[in-house]
Amino acid sequence: MPEKIRMKTPLVEMDGDEMTRILWKWIKEILIEPYVDLKTEYYDLGLPERDRTDDKVTEESAYAAKKYGVAVKCATITPNAQRVEEYKLKKMWKSPNGTIRRILDGTVFRAPIIVKGITPYVPGWKAPIVLARHAYGDIYNSVEARAAAGDSAYLVVCDKDGKEVSRQLIKKFDGDGIVQGVHNLDKSIESFAVSCFNYALENKMPLWFGAKDTISKTYDHRFKDIFNEIYERDYKEKFEKAGIYFMYTLIDDIVARIMRSEGGVLWACKNYDGDVMSDMVATAYGSLGMMSSVLVSPEGNYEFEAAHGTVTRHYYKYLKGEETSTNSVATIWAWTGALAKRGELDGIPELTAFAKKLEKAVIDTIESGEMTGDLIPLFRREGVTPVKLESRAFLKAVASRL
Ligand code: NAP
Ligand code: MG
Repeated sequence: MPEKIRMKTPLVEMDGDEMTRILWKWIKEILIEPYVDLKTEYYDLGLPERDRTDDKVTEESAYAAKKYGVAVKCATITPNAQRVEEYKLKKMWKSPNGTIRRILDGTVFRAPIIVKGITPYVPGWKAPIVLARHAYGDIYNSVEARAAAGDSAYLVVCDKDGKEVSRQLIKKFDGDGIVQGVHNLDKSIESFAVSCFNYALENKMPLWFGAKDTISKTYDHRFKDIFNEIYERDYKEKFEKAGIYFMYTLIDDIVARIMRSEGGVLWACKNYDGDVMSDMVATAYGSLGMMSSVLVSPEGNYEFEAAHGTVTRHYYKYLKGEETSTNSVATIWAWTGALAKRGELDGIPELTAFAKKLEKAVIDTIESGEMTGDLIPLFRREGVTPVKLESRAFLKAVASRL
């Protein structure tokens, strides 16, 4: 047995819930610990522990991610009323991802994992389209009201002493209607832009960003200006050196270009566009089990995770002692992303190389026909008959190629 790869700085390990918590343990046991002398600072974000610590553990894990720079997170339950009942919770705790995002002030990048045999619904898409969603403001922090015929609605801005700075009539309602107030912050748009430029550079991908500045001459125009200013000032030269480019155009033009493209672009989206388009892109590439996700903060902290949830239905089968065929690929990618980044930051090329080998072993396994049930109906490759493997058997099949 050759010596295991040594690590310097620990990874921040954020454990999670349900079926993904089971996969988490198996991935470490079968695919990582035999090869890497794994060093982690462990935080249990499983719902019982969040409840026991009044959710302090989530905040602590996010501050640890800020301290060490790289975290790997398992999917977690965001409690709703039914979960409060099921887990006898003290309170309906907030989404852990929301808490972590707030502390790291990051942007989420979602990228499909591409294998031969699983063709996207858009046949022209050959390379991944990575989607970055701005996660602050717009309709997600809006105020709304209904108005009756005869009412008037104004947009009023006051200074810090409450003195009116500007007042515009939105509408004198000649019939019943509705009105909405949205906002955003320069600082938040700036962090979003910086995260996108950094991700594009690091992954050598062109960056596309679209908004509706022709119609929204102050609001959307501000997004356009901030992206352009930061690009010209801090990134233009670096992009040119790296052989990539930044393009701003109208959102509808971007959508048309995306459909015609071969992929291989980073697509930055305003909050609502990102909400909608990420579901479209994820679906078009096949399965939620094949979508990886990373939160990147403007200071350069990274949190890697799968884009899917805790796969509850499979967990209940598992609890009954039944076998499941749950796709672990996106969760493996969370680990390989984190290990590769740690290797890069700490100057341990063997660690980065190991992560790439593990990814290759996963891809080879699927391409040669061994996969979990969710991929079977999507898989078409000449001369290969797909075989469905149970969750653990799939990990063993990957290990046999590693
Ligand atoms: P989900 O866990 O992503 O699962 C939805 C369905 O998609 C599953 O029932 C399964 O379909 C399929 N699926 C998703 N991931 C799969 C995988 N790896 N392998 C095979 N099939 C997979 O979403 P959900 O059921 O809406 O949410 C469950 C829990 O996860 C919720 O408590 C939610 O709060 C949480 N959640 C967490 C995150 C996160 O931590 N980032 C994100 C989303 C949701 P079939 O049942 O048809 O096989
Ligand atoms: Mg959505």
